[in-house]
Amino acid sequence: MPELPEVEAVRRRLQKEVTGAAICSARIIRARTTHPQSPSRVERLVRRQTIEEVRRRGKNLLLDRSGGLAIHVHLRMTGDLRTTSAGLLPPSVRAAFCLSNGRTLVFDDPRALGTLHVHCAEELAHLLGHIGPEPLSAAFTSLRFRDAARRSTQPAKLFLMDQRHVAGLGNIYAAEALFHAGIHPGRLMNALRPSQVEALHAAIREVLRKAVRSAVRAYTRPDRVEEAECFPFAVYGRESEPCPRCGRAIRRITQGGRSTYYCPGCQKG
Ligand SMILES: [Zn+2]
Repeated sequence: MPELPEVEAVRRRLQKEVTGAAICSARIIRARTTHPQSPSRVERLVRRQTIEEVRRRGKNLLLDRSGGLAIHVHLRMTGDLRTTSAGLLPPSVRAAFCLSNGRTLVFDDPRALGTLHVHCAEELAHLLGHIGPEPLSAAFTSLRFRDAARRSTQPAKLFLMDQRHVAGLGNIYAAEALFHAGIHPGRLMNALRPSQVEALHAAIREVLRKAVRSAVRAYTRPDRVEEAECFPFAVYGRESEPCPRCGRAIRRITQGGRSTYYCPGCQKG
């Protein structure tokens, strides 16, 4: 599932490919993708306006357009937003937009859980207003993180996945950040020592910085990314495999209905 690094990689790729282009025509192929907005209304609203900027907020993509309305896309599990040469549509395309630069912007989503809507600024503020600071921005200070931690009785892993505290973290990078900070995913946030909260704040930024670099490479050159270039997960998806640091077998537990991976040797705190 795309988290901040992957959504950021999609954003950077799109920014180059669609900024300054106008949408000549739009086709919503799967009605459920724009629900509860009707496909015909979305098609009508997006036409004939220039895409001025592609932004990301947490895991949300926003294509700002000259008329003031933005296209809001959430990729969910398998979504991807990219351009293709006109006429070449993948079989799992859910929406397609012909652009004035000759490219076609496609929302490709094999599992069809992603969403695409059109919103004005006020609606976006309402929809995304609860999202916490961007972890790679200056707004994500250790002071702010410490304050949120002190007030939370959530287990660390669930706290990190809660978008109100940190924007864009999901199952994968929350587990990786906890590993790098040496914190057990079940530890309650308000029970962590200040030095642990500090280490976790630093680990989130370090893991995400590396993962963004890796995702940008993977999304811009999908056919040429070597295995070694991809972000190396220390614990995620590695149940029973040896920990890269201490060699003990990685464990999997369930938290909030999702799998959490951790090292019982390195994450005792
Ligand atoms: Zn270990």
